[in-house]
Amino acid sequence: MRDLLVDKTAVVTGGASGNGRAISLAYAEQGCDVVVADIREDPREGGTPTHERIESETDAAATFVECDVTDYDSLVAAVGAAEEFGGIDVMVNNAGIFQGEEFLSDDDSTFDRIMDINVRGVYYGSRAAISEMVDGDGGSVVNLSSVAGLRGSGDFVSYCTSKGAVRLMTYALADRFGPDGVRVNAIHPGLIETTMTTEDVPIVGTEAEEAFQETIPLRRNGQPEDVADIALFLASDLADYVSGESVVVDGGMSSTQ
Ligand code: NAD
Repeated sequence: MRDLLVDKTAVVTGGASGNGRAISLAYAEQGCDVVVADIREDPREGGTPTHERIESETDAAATFVECDVTDYDSLVAAVGAAEEFGGIDVMVNNAGIFQGEEFLSDDDSTFDRIMDINVRGVYYGSRAAISEMVDGDGGSVVNLSSVAGLRGSGDFVSYCTSKGAVRLMTYALADRFGPDGVRVNAIHPGLIETTMTTEDVPIVGTEAEEAFQETIPLRRNGQPEDVADIALFLASDLADYVSGESVVVDGGMSSTQ
């Protein structure tokens, strides 16, 4: 089964690193050309840039577009870059940041930054992509929310706010554009091993990791490939009657704790 996305083109924001990188590679392995749209070309975790790996390791084509998701024109340019490959079919609004704050004493900077990237970025990315999709054959939009978009966590008020917004934005867009053939779904990862959880909010590789894993029925951290498998399903025709849905990828954590 290696042709789930043959003749398709995807734009993946934040595709240089982590989950976005795994999604880009998984799509390319299934025949999908990929526009990697990111503020940086080199993966945060190190290694060969995603688009170069796709070009050398798969039969798909790929390009990198420097893109800041807080800037609408930048997203329009990323979606425009998909024209080279036949036009956008799949939009993955994956770029995001994770940080905590002390709610009572924090200035507004954490809230502003998180909302700008995690919410405005998905809003702009969806608009740039869907405006092309409704003029064509429709498409699939996959938004990265989080288990933090399902449950509140007191150390991460802004982050939870942003990911809850992504969840409801997903449902609203699914309602608005379903009649135009656009499916819109959300993925809610749990603890996934990326630079976000090794460096930004260090859990993986710290003393807290073991206790965290005790809360996960499958007793392991998630890998970016676990997220990519769901992103692949949601983008493909296997999910052609799935829209306005949240898929949780957390080893069973949020439904059991
Ligand atoms: P990551 O830090 O490894 O990768 C994020 C990528 O987004 C980087 O390449 C970064 O350069 C890019 N990016 C950041 N700001 C950007 C901007 N303004 N414009 C364009 N690109 C930008 O993080 P990750 O863990 O791969 O996270 C990807 C998504 O998954 C995020 O939305 C995150 O909230 C979500 N998520 C991650 C986890 C986890 O445990 N890692 C859990 C739940 C949800």
